[in-house]
Amino acid sequence: MDETWYLPVVDSESEPFWKAAREGRFLIMHCRACDRPYFYPRRYCPRCWSDDTEWRESSGRGTVYSYSVIHQNPAPPFRDWAPYAVVLVDLEEGVRVMGNWDRTLDLDALAVGLPVQVTFEEITDEIALPRFRPIEG
Ligand SMILES: [Zn+2]
Repeated sequence: MDETWYLPVVDSESEPFWKAAREGRFLIMHCRACDRPYFYPRRYCPRCWSDDTEWRESSGRGTVYSYSVIHQNPAPPFRDWAPYAVVLVDLEEGVRVMGNWDRTLDLDALAVGLPVQVTFEEITDEIALPRFRPIEG
């Protein structure tokens, strides 16, 4: 099996997001027509259907809305990651995003309501995946 089968496919629409991720920046979409952010990224605003939309940089800070710990997943590389956690994070900008808990950290630190900050794990030259970790200090 190709070792990168699970990675996102970068296309013309998602390329800005993944390019920024490689630079350690988390982008979300913003609608200029109704002046509101949204996630997941797509061309048209999900509220007013305007195509007057743009990428904006998020602070990457938020709080854990919920999470799930995966103890078993037979497919590599997840098999080797388990146990790992998928988290839903409410970003300061007002959108809810999904990501993984930083795999280098103890799962016991993870809790609903925990203030977190995005970080990135470089997987390939093209892809750095968003991870979340507690805000320090
Ligand atoms: Zn809109």
